[in-house]
Amino acid sequence: MDKARPSIKDLHARLSQGETKSVDLTQQSLDHAKNSDSLGTLFLSLREGRAMAAAEAADQRAKQGKRLGPLDGIPIAIKDNIVMKDEVATCGSQFLRDYVSPYDSHVVGKLKEAGAVIIGKTNLDEFAMGSSNEHSAYGVVRNPWDRDRVPGGSSGASAVCVAAGIAPLSLGSETGGSVRQPASFCGVVGVKPTYGRVSRYGLVAFASSLDQIGPFSWWVEDAALLLQVIAGRDERDSTSAAQAVDDYPQTIQKPIDGLRVGLVRDFTATDLDAAAEKNFSTAVEAIRGLGAKTVEVSLPHLKYAVGCYYVINSAEASANLARFDGVRYTSRSKDHGNLKDLFVNSRTQGFGVEVKRRIMLGTYVLSAGYYDAYYGKACKIRHLIREDFIKAFAKCDVILTPTSPCEAFPLGAKLENPLQMYLSDVFTASINLAGLPAVSVPSGFSEQGLPFGLQIIAPDFAEGRALGVAHHYQQSTDWKDMRP
Ligand code: GLN
Repeated sequence: MDKARPSIKDLHARLSQGETKSVDLTQQSLDHAKNSDSLGTLFLSLREGRAMAAAEAADQRAKQGKRLGPLDGIPIAIKDNIVMKDEVATCGSQFLRDYVSPYDSHVVGKLKEAGAVIIGKTNLDEFAMGSSNEHSAYGVVRNPWDRDRVPGGSSGASAVCVAAGIAPLSLGSETGGSVRQPASFCGVVGVKPTYGRVSRYGLVAFASSLDQIGPFSWWVEDAALLLQVIAGRDERDSTSAAQAVDDYPQTIQKPIDGLRVGLVRDFTATDLDAAAEKNFSTAVEAIRGLGAKTVEVSLPHLKYAVGCYYVINSAEASANLARFDGVRYTSRSKDHGNLKDLFVNSRTQGFGVEVKRRIMLGTYVLSAGYYDAYYGKACKIRHLIREDFIKAFAKCDVILTPTSPCEAFPLGAKLENPLQMYLSDVFTASINLAGLPAVSVPSGFSEQGLPFGLQIIAPDFAEGRALGVAHHYQQSTDWKDMRP
């Protein structure tokens, strides 16, 4: 077993005492990123010069005793659908290969204010549509625990950056599980905040009623620190919540003794493969061992979640992606005689196969004559799923499920079968539909040495509670000391 990874608290202390410098941490991250070919295409851009300049500024502040806070001088990687001023934001698409953002997203602004050093933009499934990171136009990402397997998606590369130790922190985005599922496949912590907790300003929209930005880290405590920095009201996102932000690093220290933990009766055994099921039962025992009490809860509409999620995300994606037309933002097809051909050819050449599938599906479910049968019905089911959760939370404080029904699968295994791929979202997508916060925390390994994740779901704005359970659980287990 290797020595444990340093936490942000450790790095903060070393930086404050002058035992280490941000330029050294940043250089290590950049070198590691450049020598990570065996992990596939992790970065779509590296900010070598600019990151080093930011690190030097952080070191200057440290020297003057004016550090901005725990993230000052800490390297972080961000997913390439989160825009940063003067940097490319490709969203993993050929179509946006030359798009340079004229502004900072809300979260990038917050990270800059906190002094964090953004080292580069990470690979993703094109426009965040996928569960394996195989739908990027720039190549696949490999799982650090087994390089013939996927890292999960769509924020696969952000998860790998943390798992492989390239950066202690990264950001991804969630629409139906894109932070939690790769976190589970790569053996790191991933957080999906309550809808509205983190501003979506500057996150390239996939499905606006579901999208949220969320942290990855090795330590739960570090995810709590990062969430603290990026959460909060932002006027530029009308769905951003005004509710005061909890002090997550403090909240998570509260003991979980006596906490009521809900176990879902309605997950049929077929949802889960046997190894994942065994892992989950062991994790539940461990949480009981920490003093929590388990109660059974029922979520009767959960079985419709994957279907409902794919109707809604495709509908919203088809509307959101209409703006990419070969005139604004994107590259343009050379092959056009009139305006219609320009739109059609640019979109045909610019978008990849999964994105086209969602646009067609979305346009179909929104079209006259089908709207009520598909989109309208999915919206009603979404409401019922949320009500199920609200009723369940009358009986418990958090709900536990596995994060994913299986461990990381081999590269290519589900690529030709979209339905199989979509089913990997069975435990995560319902949470986005309901708008709730959830955390995935590493819960051990399969016989092949592949990580599993435990999902902890909390009521609206109780991310501190979910993080608290994850923190106490992580402290009581050994996996935090393992490395790929
Ligand atoms: N795998 C899901 C999808 O393809 C989730 C994507 C996401 O959360 N961005 O839609």
